[in-house]
Amino acid sequence: MSAPTPQSGTPRACVIGAGFGGMALAIRLQSAGIATTVVEARDKPGGRAYFWQMDGFTFDAGPTVVTDPACLKELWDLTGHDMAQDVELMPVMPFYRLNWPDGTNFDYSNDDPALRREIAKLDPADVAGYDAFLAYSAGVFEEGYVKLGHVPFLDFKSMLKAAPALAKHQAWRSVYSIVSKYVKNEKLREALSFHTLLVGGNPMKTSSIYALIHKLEKDGGVWWTRGGTNRLIAGMVRHFERLGGVMRLGDAVERIEVLGNKVTGVTTKSGWSEKFDAVASNGDIMHSYRDLLGTSHRGKTYAKSLARKSYSPSLFVVHFGIEGTWPGIPHHMILFGPRYKGLLDDIYTHGVLPADFSIYLHHPTVTDPGMAPEGKSTFYALVPVAHLGKLNVDWSVVGPQLEKRILDEVGRRLIPDIHDRIVTSFHYTPRDFSHDLSAHLGSAFSLEPVLTQSAWFRGHNRDDVMKNFYLVGAGTHPGAGIPGVVGSAKATAGLMVEDLLG
Ligand SMILES: Cc1cc2nc3c(=O)[nH]c(=O)nc-3n(C[C@H](O)[C@H](O)[C@H](O)COP(=O)(O)OP(=O)(O)OC[C@H]3O[C@@H](n4cnc5c(N)ncnc54)[C@H](O)[C@@H]3O)c2cc1C
Repeated sequence: MSAPTPQSGTPRACVIGAGFGGMALAIRLQSAGIATTVVEARDKPGGRAYFWQMDGFTFDAGPTVVTDPACLKELWDLTGHDMAQDVELMPVMPFYRLNWPDGTNFDYSNDDPALRREIAKLDPADVAGYDAFLAYSAGVFEEGYVKLGHVPFLDFKSMLKAAPALAKHQAWRSVYSIVSKYVKNEKLREALSFHTLLVGGNPMKTSSIYALIHKLEKDGGVWWTRGGTNRLIAGMVRHFERLGGVMRLGDAVERIEVLGNKVTGVTTKSGWSEKFDAVASNGDIMHSYRDLLGTSHRGKTYAKSLARKSYSPSLFVVHFGIEGTWPGIPHHMILFGPRYKGLLDDIYTHGVLPADFSIYLHHPTVTDPGMAPEGKSTFYALVPVAHLGKLNVDWSVVGPQLEKRILDEVGRRLIPDIHDRIVTSFHYTPRDFSHDLSAHLGSAFSLEPVLTQSAWFRGHNRDDVMKNFYLVGAGTHPGAGIPGVVGSAKATAGLMVEDLLG
């Protein structure tokens, strides 16, 4: 089965931005018979999931952990297509290896007996506590993800409806606090709470609803796309174009045209101007209102309110390609530093660049050797850093120093002669997030995922005033991460299809 062919009178929509959220929305609209054009500022689609090829190495810029593949498969199922035709997903096991400075390793996966053995190694008394945590996680997964992960919160009433479930699960508590209720070992507390960092949240402050990530990974697994996450984006683009959708790359939208309380079209930097019945922005939420709608009253007033919100931190990422292969280093590792809470305080509250760090190490070639030339390996090492509004340093000076410190630490813990092995390396700083993605304050994950900025309190999928302007992506409900933004696309598409096709 294929999508309906656009005819005269077919509604036309523009999606600004080809991130995961933008592409998922575009596919849904095009599948429903809305003639959709995606306008992307950069030369390649993907947004945070951009990529570079250098010296035979492929470096994915952003997401590496694919969870809930079913939410992606749905985008093909809509028109009776098969995702496997465009994308090859490979399981990753263990999901992560967590490592601490004292040499302790903890392999985290959904292999129940193996996971229980790992927990018992840390503290046998915590196995029962883990079972209770798992039951809690399953409860919040059902309420927060299955029931509410893809519905738009357009009014306060919808928030009130969710209130009993939030109260039942003590959503005002943090993930770390809930985990600590169930397990006593500090390393295990870190192992069961660090996940919020993958969506920009401080485990000490992020609502315990986000403990759902544990169940999400347990049920859906952790996956890798052959060729890199960029291939998943490429598959989405291929599918969208197959359905008749139009991609316009390398041309930033400069202005969303407004007449009264309606948007009428977009104008790009190159001067291209087109009328649309509806416009959805996948760009940064602040950029969308302050810059693209800046001439309208609504743009100005909402940008002011967005300026008062808190934004998740940025990231510093070192990409490196090295000589040799490393079968003993799993695909995903967290190299915890000596501090957990203190380090999080430095990043989220004090806005300083600490002397220590925790590293997420990405090693795709152990799953997919094609990501590097034969006999060589691709890695990235990522550390969260405060965003540009808190940390005022010259990244052109600090960047090379931090790159060296991070490589030294990876060397100390895993690859002793790392510096001699490097074939190519470069780094990505908060300035790059700001410059390349128009990310407010260089934030890597948009608005911080705290309870007071979630659901109705987050960006709405349809603007409250301009009823044919929509948002999709990390700044909207439910928030950052691939399943999050793909869920937001489902919520936004539901509204647009209803509004445009009745
Ligand atoms: C380093 C890193 C690692 C991550 N790891 C994971 C992970 O392992 N798993 C996971 O699930 N999530 C991960 N995340 C989070 C996840 O990648 C993001 O939350 C998600 O990809 C954001 O998607 P989005 O739809 O909000 O769009 P974005 O990726 O933010 O894309 C928005 C797009 O809009 C475009 N745009 C902006 N302004 C304009 C304009 N004026 N005109 C035209 N185009 C414009 C931008 O160029 C960009 O392409 C990671 C994020 C980062 C940064």
